[in-house]
Amino acid sequence: MKNKKKIWLSSPNMGGAEIKCVSDVFKSNWIAPVGQYIDKFENGLSLVSNNYHFAALSSGTAAIHLALILLNVKSGDNVLCSSFTFAASANPIKYLGANPIFIDSEEQTWNMCPELLESAIIDSIEKGVVPKAIILVHLYGMPAKINEIIKIADTYNIPIIEDVAEALGSKYNGIPLGTFGKFGIYSFNGNKIITASTGGALFSNDKKIIDKAKKLATQAREEAAHYEHIDIGYNYRLSNICAAIGFGQLQYLTERINKKRYIFNFYKTSLSEIDDIIFLDENDNLFSNFWLTTILLKEGSIIDREYLRLSLRKSNIETRPLWKPMHLQPVFKDSRSYVNGVSEDLFNRGLCLPSDTNMKDEDLNVVVNKIKEIYAT
Ligand SMILES: *Cc1c(COP(=O)(O)O)cnc(C)c1O
Repeated sequence: MKNKKKIWLSSPNMGGAEIKCVSDVFKSNWIAPVGQYIDKFENGLSLVSNNYHFAALSSGTAAIHLALILLNVKSGDNVLCSSFTFAASANPIKYLGANPIFIDSEEQTWNMCPELLESAIIDSIEKGVVPKAIILVHLYGMPAKINEIIKIADTYNIPIIEDVAEALGSKYNGIPLGTFGKFGIYSFNGNKIITASTGGALFSNDKKIIDKAKKLATQAREEAAHYEHIDIGYNYRLSNICAAIGFGQLQYLTERINKKRYIFNFYKTSLSEIDDIIFLDENDNLFSNFWLTTILLKEGSIIDREYLRLSLRKSNIETRPLWKPMHLQPVFKDSRSYVNGVSEDLFNRGLCLPSDTNMKDEDLNVVVNKIKEIYAT
């Protein structure tokens, strides 16, 4: 039977407070990239992230771009980056004319493999170039092997930018992600765990550097009535309207995380009888926001990823293959990479299940029953 209602992978979920905040903005007429909701949003984010300092920006991509600029990344520099990610993690390296070097994943968390990272650093140093930065992605909400990676980064004195676009609310040993490296970045794009319709944030425990980020994000204006400029600037500040949406959404963050985790556990329990489906689960010291529930189909399984995806699509159920690794993307074909086959294998066998916080149990059951039906035939 065809299910009429579309089941989405991850759609925006407004709680009610957002529209009141937006309405405040209209009443105050601060319809601009300045205003009280930008401050409120930044302070609210600070409360959930170790009292760090925040710059609310137009996107997560802009936040990565500014982080690289603040780390003095220049044309020709090497920047190490997780290969298994969305292209937005790596594109800003190219904006600066620098060279991304892609690092494959390990099997436990699917994130950056520490051993390959160290090999890449050693090779680069042997060629006479110390890499300028590491972009460490926590994909699908799952924390990477932070201890191991921090140790390596510290040994070679290379700063880390944590890409926490998909992992707001996730923790490692109880500590929020994004607070282990020099910078963290969030995204508030429409499909993220909370959204500002679009938007992002750059954060650090270094107030001075975040103040500098805010200045760069507003065309690098010096404090002078006549608009004095010493540096090249960017138009990257978040609008007050978007900040109002983001601030409203922040009230529901805990609720959304709980729902995402509920969705993961619902699938994991309901599909436990299907041996061919393996779930990416957290272990003891990790806490994932489970932004998306991800599954792997066992090697040699009769049902392959595309068959499953297309069968579910026929029932109006949206799923998506896991991210295609950057080292396999045509646009990065000339970039160096350190590869062990893990992310390519994940890409071939993995699928994201609908993890929309708007889903009710009956929607989750529609997905579960459809998957069971596919495996029964
Ligand atoms: C969404 C996302 C980004 C980019 O965020 P935008 O706000 O869309 O620019 C960066 N990295 C990862 C891993 C993402 O999923």
